[in-house]
Amino acid sequence: MQGLLIVISGFSGVGKGTLINALLDRYPDAFRLSVSATSRAPREGETEGVEYFFKTEQEFRCMIEDGELLEYAKYNGNYYGTPKAFVYDTLERGRNLILEIEVTGGMNIKRIFPDAFLVYVLPPSAAELKRRLVNRGTETMEEIGRRLARAVEETDCIRNYDYVTVNDDFETCLEELYRMICMYRQSMHNRARFSEELKKELEDITRTEEE
Ligand code: 5GP
Repeated sequence: MQGLLIVISGFSGVGKGTLINALLDRYPDAFRLSVSATSRAPREGETEGVEYFFKTEQEFRCMIEDGELLEYAKYNGNYYGTPKAFVYDTLERGRNLILEIEVTGGMNIKRIFPDAFLVYVLPPSAAELKRRLVNRGTETMEEIGRRLARAVEETDCIRNYDYVTVNDDFETCLEELYRMICMYRQSMHNRARFSEELKKELEDITRTEEE
């Protein structure tokens, strides 16, 4: 069975990166994480190939032209995109793959992979989101302002997500996320089984009854 593609989106500063790292730590065999390419400059402590593949704008445009990206989007003046080969390779090996991407990318992924599970992580309030962004200390107040403005734009897309969770208590949110991913994967598995195996069995039974 193919792996499940999981998109995790959320406002900047909501804590989705921390949630994803905890998921990978706690369930190391269950998931892999896609590393995106970006034209944004590395933050202090970020390492090439771990958080992102850091590219110049020119290099990023070449990746687009060469068809190396499954999807890409511009976010606050920088390019971000998902390398295509790793996604197909991981899913074909039956591994579940997490993409941490913004809403335009999320919508594009759903178009390409209708069975992908799209999760949106919300903060408990706008004030708490601003507090988390400020406490993170990685962006200037001007950049924080831009990220909050972008959050306003993103809210219209949330309705297109399959599951929306609130990251208030971290542990609760983490367990809920894991449970929902397992349930969705099981649901996909049941659907596949019904449409193939069970259909065949039903046809056999119907034929025997007719004879
Ligand atoms: P940051 O600069 O905080 O690392 O990321 C900014 C935004 O870009 C976040 O919402 C993040 O989810 C999104 N992002 C990261 N990688 C990708 C990607 O490959 N594609 C898209 N569409 N968005 C991405």
